[in-house]
Amino acid sequence: MQKVIILGAAGRMGKVLIRGVQNGLAPGLQLAGAVDRPGCPDLGKDAGVLAGGAAANVALTDNLWAVLPGADLVIDFTTPASTLAAAPMMIAAKKAWVVGTTGMKLEEKAVVENAATVIPVVMSTNMSLGVNLLFCLVEQAARALKGRGYDVEIIERHHRRKKDAPSGTALSLGEAAARGLEWKLSEVAVDGRTGITGERPAAQIGFHAVRGGDIVGDHTVLFAADGECVEFSHRATSRETFALGALQAAAWLPGRSAGLYSMRDVLGLA
Ligand code: NAD
Repeated sequence: MQKVIILGAAGRMGKVLIRGVQNGLAPGLQLAGAVDRPGCPDLGKDAGVLAGGAAANVALTDNLWAVLPGADLVIDFTTPASTLAAAPMMIAAKKAWVVGTTGMKLEEKAVVENAATVIPVVMSTNMSLGVNLLFCLVEQAARALKGRGYDVEIIERHHRRKKDAPSGTALSLGEAAARGLEWKLSEVAVDGRTGITGERPAAQIGFHAVRGGDIVGDHTVLFAADGECVEFSHRATSRETFALGALQAAAWLPGRSAGLYSMRDVLGLA
């Protein structure tokens, strides 16, 4: 059995992950620790009960370093600041790391990439099979439509409590399209539009973030041309889809050498 710590255990994803480990969503995983931020009102509670399931005999703590020795790997769905703070501990303890946190800047991602020179890491802005398939399809479509007059726009919709925009998944879809078009995303990305914007240049990828209610996560990539519009869409209806992917990554990681892996590697997608 691989012993797993959930970092961000009192959060929305943390709770679904704990229930997933307890219900055997991916085989061979056992809950060894549950960590959240200092001051979290649930510290000391049983992590299984907190997650809405059976008692796990694991108390929620704010001390990752103290529980790391008893674990093989950490699944991290927290905040960029928390993920950055965990990095030196992950390196020093030499434990595998699944990073689902989004909203990281390039220099923050570089900290995780640096950790991956020492430990095996799976990092993905979206752990669902469907979205990872979408990444592949969007890249293929962009390559096929390159230079043929199709404008690329990305629309995402999430719940009102989401802290970052555009979503990490929308940015990854933009990266996939940019790869297919042989563009650099940072040179062509436009975040929403307002005012007198003038005509849309061809070399542009637009991002549009909608926030409201309890929407788990919807993404659409448009390839719009004169006379037709091709749309690729994904709708997550439950956080379980992300948890399943993260737990599959956790089950896949042990025994891998140090390196930065993606969900494409875990899921075996080309
Ligand atoms: P959330 O706010 O419900 O949970 C985050 C948890 O992290 C909270 O309980 C918070 O207290 C905890 N936390 C904050 N600082 C901490 C620290 N220093 N140490 C330990 N814990 C700390 O958010 P959520 O909806 O569960 O999402 C968490 C992250 O995962 C976000 O970045 C979100 O965008 C991302 N996410 C990724 C995927 C994916 O598939 N990769 C899917 C869903 C959400």
